[in-house]
Amino acid sequence: MAARMPVVFVSHGAPDALLKALDTVACWREIGRSIPNPAAILAVSAHWQAQQPTLSHSGAPPTLHDFAGFDPALYRLRYPAPGAPALAERAASLLESAGIAAKLHPDRGLDHGAWVPLSAMFPQAHLPVTQLSLTRQGPAAHLALGRALAPLREEGVLILASGSITHNFDWLDFPAAADQPPHPRALQFAEWAGSHLETGNVAALLDYRHGPYGAESHPSEEHVLPLFVALGAGNGEPAERHNPAFTYGGLAMDAYVWRG
Ligand code: ZN
Repeated sequence: MAARMPVVFVSHGAPDALLKALDTVACWREIGRSIPNPAAILAVSAHWQAQQPTLSHSGAPPTLHDFAGFDPALYRLRYPAPGAPALAERAASLLESAGIAAKLHPDRGLDHGAWVPLSAMFPQAHLPVTQLSLTRQGPAAHLALGRALAPLREEGVLILASGSITHNFDWLDFPAAADQPPHPRALQFAEWAGSHLETGNVAALLDYRHGPYGAESHPSEEHVLPLFVALGAGNGEPAERHNPAFTYGGLAMDAYVWRG
């Protein structure tokens, strides 16, 4: 039987993290090295929302450059991992068993929320990957998604959730260096979230919009929703916190790992 896989959440930052947020990239690399070899990866990213949970059934998911205005070098990067159609089918059936109707998408590729951290964690791009969409529902529905997918951990599957602990563009200072001092409100929310993730306080996290600057940290919810998928897959247990840093002053770059 395969080793029980950890669950990982990363804040993927701006699309140019691979070129600029070097401490974050080093952290992702270390997390990749620290976990048992996965048989396959299920990635869920802030950059794919659908009406219902949807899994890429592609055998060779293309690398999506789903951003504009960044360094041309970024558009030349590829993450040529094989797809994982069998895993997509297995995940869809777990969701169906939990009463969550899921769909398969024939050829959806990997968006930058998935391939940017994967490029650091598993640079050989040898592990099969499927991507799962978010829905337009809230934190509780995404916690339920994660709970339904938790059995995959016993099957050697790494669940990688990719979003951002804070995501308010009004707090960003893009022309400046990537390592600006943090915006005080972003810092306060990231610390609050960290304290509840490290203690496994699921109830407080579900009500994050009432936490300090919670609603301001996420004017729209898509970047925080992957965190709830990870929390559900991690059974709400305490998480390890890594890399409490900031990019562009407003993007908290924390990563969390559930090993329990
Ligand atoms: Zn993003």
